[in-house]
Amino acid sequence: MGKCSFELWEKGDNKNKEKCGLPIGGGSSTRCAFHAHVDQALPLTNSSIISDYIELCKSEYLKERKREYLDLTRARFQGIHFNRVSLPSDIEVRFNKSEFEDCRFTGLSFQESVSFRECVFLRTPFRDIDIKAAAVDFERSTMSGLTVQFEGCDFQCTKAIAFVGAHIESGTNPFSGCFFEAPQIQFLDCTLNTDRLYVLIVGSADLLRNDRYLALAGEEIYFDGLKLNGHFEYANPIECREVSPIVKFSQVNFRQMKTAIFFEANLKRARFTYSVLHNVEFRNPRFEESSGRKQIYDEIVRVDDTDEEHIRDVYIQLKRNFEEAHNYADAGDWFYREMECRRRLAEANRSKHPWLGLPSVILYRLYKFVSEYGENYARPFWGLIATLLFGATSYFYSGFGTEGTTNYDLAWPPTVDSFWGFTDAMLYSLGVMSFQVTKTGFQHGTSTTAVTLAQVVFTLILVPLFLLALRRKFRR
Ligand SMILES: [Zn+2]
Repeated sequence: MGKCSFELWEKGDNKNKEKCGLPIGGGSSTRCAFHAHVDQALPLTNSSIISDYIELCKSEYLKERKREYLDLTRARFQGIHFNRVSLPSDIEVRFNKSEFEDCRFTGLSFQESVSFRECVFLRTPFRDIDIKAAAVDFERSTMSGLTVQFEGCDFQCTKAIAFVGAHIESGTNPFSGCFFEAPQIQFLDCTLNTDRLYVLIVGSADLLRNDRYLALAGEEIYFDGLKLNGHFEYANPIECREVSPIVKFSQVNFRQMKTAIFFEANLKRARFTYSVLHNVEFRNPRFEESSGRKQIYDEIVRVDDTDEEHIRDVYIQLKRNFEEAHNYADAGDWFYREMECRRRLAEANRSKHPWLGLPSVILYRLYKFVSEYGENYARPFWGLIATLLFGATSYFYSGFGTEGTTNYDLAWPPTVDSFWGFTDAMLYSLGVMSFQVTKTGFQHGTSTTAVTLAQVVFTLILVPLFLLALRRKFRR
């Protein structure tokens, strides 16, 4: 009896290809029954061939620990119910590059990693699968032909659950009542041609079953480059309001989706750079705040000026988005953040062109200092009051006349005389600020000219900023 000479995939380099080595059942073939099918790309429709192969693998190899995993790669499975095949639960199983047609994975549990990299699934559902292992990998796999692809599946992994580059076409809901828990959950560059993807963010201990949702418990969740043409919903349930994993929505075009809703979502550690947020609906979102204004996580972890530009673009989109939703208070926060990015970019630019860049840096800083970029009406208001008092005090002590002498004494408590004197000074100050100075009848003294000029400049800056901020405040 010969041994199967099928060269196993993914074992060492080309020089040292491991051979299957299982006994050949008879006939003229040089392959075991399983690998004879694999070799000729024949569909495996008989589950007993698979069972026999698995049994042989277990008895001949795995006892001696020569193999690290059960090799079921590059096969074509047709109509196989894997719950009837005795798949080992305590050995890592690799199905990489295999094809499944009308197969079924139901009611199975695994204690070791399972890998379905680059597999093709046609009408092959996963139902009530429990995996408590290091990892589950569906990287670059393709799934189609079903309304529900994963139903009631529990994946609890110590490393990762990966759907990187996966392509799922399942009519309604790809993940129904599933719970995934892992430090890293990756839907990076995943394409979903499905009616919906409803994600629920839960804590590690929570086990929420909801047919509509895919419950996720992870430290880092990647949706970068996710392509979905159906409805998207991302929510934190009431019990898990505080759960905020690092979640990446970078390079996601939400405009392609039918709807995109962040419902009561904790987005304190959510990243949005390079994304199109045009039609996203934020319902009671929670963002990180600093100095009383909302902020996205991208800004907190930014590295360089290139980041800054893209963060600014996110803020511009958020501002527009919140304005369209008539949430002007938060839109103001996003505008403030956008201007902060612009200011920092101007300052970075100034380090390259010290003199050319200076005016814009001064403008940004002034605009920020005086009115928080038009978002604060109290600052210019108090600025105007200060300008008024500064003028009055100055005129009071230096006098109005050409002589430049002090008109009033400095006695405390103020006398009746000095009180009226200060009132005159206030009126004069007000006159300067309302450009009515010629009508007041006072004459300029050389010492008051500088004060008058300063008052006029401050007034010209502060009044428009005050009105702008006031208009923004009450624009509803
Ligand atoms: Zn073989």
